[in-house]
Amino acid sequence: MMARRLLFLGPPGVGKGTQAQRLVGELGIPQISTGDMLRAAVAAGSEIGRRAKSFIDRGELVPDQVVIGVAEARLAEHDASAGFVLDGFPRTVAQAEALDRILERLGRELELCVVMEVAEPALVERLLRRSKLEGRSDDNEETIRNRMRVYREQTEPLVAHYRRRGIVRELDGLGSMDEVAERIRRAIAA
Ligand code: AMP
Repeated sequence: MMARRLLFLGPPGVGKGTQAQRLVGELGIPQISTGDMLRAAVAAGSEIGRRAKSFIDRGELVPDQVVIGVAEARLAEHDASAGFVLDGFPRTVAQAEALDRILERLGRELELCVVMEVAEPALVERLLRRSKLEGRSDDNEETIRNRMRVYREQTEPLVAHYRRRGIVRELDGLGSMDEVAERIRRAIAA
């Protein structure tokens, strides 16, 4: 049996989004990326977008209550009832606790937390390359360093949060897309 309620955790640039998208095709479950949703809100000029933009551009976290509302609404949509890949949410302990409450209300439980890791110099290099391809407003070197710091300080502690529950699978994010995808397949099938 494949786990279908998944959380991808790992530093910026580790490949969470790319791998989450691949899995969506294979398992037919949605990728829930708060980063994508917030960028769409910024592009649309909505109230949430206006509140989020300056944080995104500085590489800081958007306030918990804004992001939690976005994630909650998405998780309640029909297509997430059969499973989901959370990518970029939760990012703080408060968000993780909110996620627990949201899932409890929906009568669901997180099955697996897949933690991907790559050493920092390789991550910075990947993100600088991505900045040239995609032109994301937060992929410049100063902001990238800030996002790494924010990850280590605020998001990495979540690994311990989920480890206590016994649902963490750690894997090496270095390698080709296919190699990493195969590691993920093994982790979620086991
Ligand atoms: P990402 O695409 O996941 O790297 O997210 C890009 C940016 O969106 C982050 O640097 C944050 O500014 C914001 N963001 C995305 N998800 C969250 C979240 N769960 N909590 C706070 N801020 C977030």
